[in-house]
Amino acid sequence: MAVPKRKVSPHRRGNRRSHDSLKAEAFHECNNCGELKRPHNLCPHCGFYNGREVIAVGL
Ligand SMILES: [Zn+2]
Repeated sequence: MAVPKRKVSPHRRGNRRSHDSLKAEAFHECNNCGELKRPHNLCPHCGFYNGREVIAVGL
């Protein structure tokens, strides 16, 4: 079995983990209803994308 040659110091371990954090999910206001939605996705609240209704929601 492969085994590490040296113990990784807390500092190096921290450096490695400096890229591990999760970023907040991207969101934008819907141009039609103003609800928060994900960019480049149709709005789950009103069903609009790019100024026109793509799907009917909640009727
Ligand atoms: Zn909307």
